[in-house]
This record gives sequence, structure tokens and C-alpha cells, in this order.
Amino acid sequence: MIILDYDKVAHCLKTSAYVTTPFYSLDNGDVYSMIIAGSAGVPFLQGALAFCDDIQKYECHKMPMADERIHIIFNHDVIESDKNNFETISDLCRGWVLKNGKWILDDVKCISVQRQLLSRFGGIIETDIIAGKKVLIMGVGSFGSDIALGLVKSGVTYFILIDDDRFDIPNIMRHICGLSQVGRYKTKAIADIILDKNSSATVTTFEKRVNRQNSELLRDLIRSADIVVCAIDDRDGKVLTNRLCVEENKTCIFTGAFRRAYGGQILRVHPHQSLCYQCFLKSLPEQAANQEISNDRQAKAISYSDRPVPVEPGLANDITPITQMVCKLVIQELLKDKNTTLRSLDEDLAAPLYLWFNRRETGSDQENWEPLEFNCDGMHILRWYGVAIDADPACPVCGDFLKELARQQGHKTSNKE
Ligand SMILES: [Zn+2]
Repeated sequence: MIILDYDKVAHCLKTSAYVTTPFYSLDNGDVYSMIIAGSAGVPFLQGALAFCDDIQKYECHKMPMADERIHIIFNHDVIESDKNNFETISDLCRGWVLKNGKWILDDVKCISVQRQLLSRFGGIIETDIIAGKKVLIMGVGSFGSDIALGLVKSGVTYFILIDDDRFDIPNIMRHICGLSQVGRYKTKAIADIILDKNSSATVTTFEKRVNRQNSELLRDLIRSADIVVCAIDDRDGKVLTNRLCVEENKTCIFTGAFRRAYGGQILRVHPHQSLCYQCFLKSLPEQAANQEISNDRQAKAISYSDRPVPVEPGLANDITPITQMVCKLVIQELLKDKNTTLRSLDEDLAAPLYLWFNRRETGSDQENWEPLEFNCDGMHILRWYGVAIDADPACPVCGDFLKELARQQGHKTSNKE
């Protein structure tokens, strides 16, 4: 079967009477598809779209172009046909595939990707509103990539990805990308996965580190985004991201797993309305230090060095609950003030900090929690906990240090009096 993408066909037919285009070959030639956009590792054949007066009389016996392997002929009537009805195009064309030197007639199916892709979302979330929103993801390791995938599945179409890391074999099992991506920049490989889900998505990638040298670029990108997800591992990068987001008044969601992924946390910063990452470092320094294993460098440095862990079969599975919660919070933010079925979650997702524990890890506070049993009381693993923490009024990033100092000194003076 030959799968045509209606939108590409309509565009081609407008521009020329003869257009060449690649067709991706799947399942050893069972399917030839125009639709795959991110296609590293998928073989393709050169194809051509052309016109004739009567497709029923047309015989495909010669190669119009030497390297052409797929040939689709459209009846001239297709131009006058109802362009809004893509299904009629399938009746106004015929397709051949060159196999063993012979042109073989094959079935042709025309699909309108954009019309059908998000049709199931109607009444659940407003994809039109979400589609215009831009999400900036810093770090596309196992966390950031899973979040990107979750968001494109939710209808987000505008992505900016920042990461300077390349795929390596040890990354593969925890990551949404596979062996065909080894050696590539993670940003570019994730961009292909996003485009393979939604070919009309826009993905801009920056193979850069989140550090001071790039702070002006980062500031511009933060300013242009509707929301920022910070899924990098390194403390300095998070501190910098936090400062830029507070200065640009941009909501930022910080996320990562605890060591050996025994749990994870999500901090949502609404500048000047909630605490920021700097306040968080001061209020819960241990909690913050516990986190930094959101990429593989950290995984090696932290998760495997402090004690021998021969196998980590469930690590990817331990990450998913946290990345899915991040997606939920991002969608909630993007659809804020919109009348959707998600509004009932506003009261549930009001906390700035969320904690999740995958197991009762030896040496952690959770070690002595009650096992997950048939009772609902007390603290248990495998549940979300929202934590209320106040901003630090003297926070050097989001607070007013001098005012707070003066207030405290005033306090001391009046106490003495
Ligand atoms: Zn702060």
C-alpha cells in the first residue's frame, strides 16, 4: 500500500505537474509512506507525483526519472475536485511501485494528517489553544525527552530544546530514543520523534549548555516561551535558569529524580507568587541535594558510586510517573484561565512542590514508612505529596534582601527596647 499525505499532495499539485518526493519503505515494502517526518534509519525510495488525462488508461511502463521507484498518477480532475474532501483524492489517482524491474500497481490511500491527528482530542483539551503555546525544555536526557514526548501527545506543537549532549549506548534503555540514534545530538533526535508524532510541530534546537556563557541566548529563549521546563542535572545551571525565569517573570518547572531514582520531585516556580529554586535550596537543602540525577552523567556519578547497584531494571519505569506529572502541570499552566475539564484540578495542583517515592529506599526517610497496604492512612510510597513552602522574603533572587534585613534589624531593636 502507498500512503499519501493529503497536505503534501495538495501543496505539490499546486506547485507543479511533476513533483518528486521520498516515500519511506516499511515492513520490507508492505507499506510506502509519505508521512514519516523524523525518519533516521528508515529506508526510503524516490517517488514522483504526476498528472494525466485519464488514470484508467494510463500504463506505467517506463521510468520517467532514472531513480524513480514509486509513481503516482493523478487525474486532471483532482484539481477541480473538492479539495476539502481528501478521501476523494484516493479515487482520482493510481500508484505503481518498481519491483524486480517491473511496475506493479499498488493500493493508494490518502490521509489528511492534520485533520485526523488531533480529532480525538475534541471536548477533552483545547488543542487550538495549546497548539500556539511554546514550551522550552532545558535538558533532553531521560527526563526531558519523556516530557517532550508526553507534551506532543497532549497537543503541544511548539518546542525549543536545549542540550549539548549526544546519545551514547548506556543512555538507550532509559531514553525514548533507540539504537538508530547513537552518536546524534539528543536535541535533534528528540526533534525527529516529536515530528514523527506531529509533522506540523515546530521544533527549534540548541546544542548548548545551560551556563553563564550562554545566558543572553537563554534569556531570549525564556522570554519567547510560554513556559520553561528545567530538566538538567547541574546545580549552577538550575540556579541560572531560576534567576533568568524570575527576571523574565516566566513560570518554570524544575524536575529530577532522587539518587537511584528511589523517588523524584517537581518544583513549580511562579515568579513573585511562589517560592523560587533559590528559596527552595535554602528551605530544603537536603531535598535539593538529593535530586541531582536527571541525566546519565549524574546517574553514573551519584546513583552508582555511593553503593554497588548491579542492575537497575526499573529505572525508566521509576522516571515515568514523575515526567507524566510534569506534563500534567505544564498543560495545566498552558490552559490556565481556559474553560476546560481540567479546571477541577486547579485545587489539587496548587502546591509549589510535589514529591513522589518509588520505594522505601534504605537510608532514606521513607525506609520506615508503613508498607503500601490496604489502608489509606499515613505516608506511603507510590503516591504524590504536595508540599507547601513559603518563599524566603530575603531571597536574593525573588525577595527583597535589604528590606528584609531592615525589617529584621527593626525587630531586634524593638526587642531590645
Ligand atoms: Zn526565591
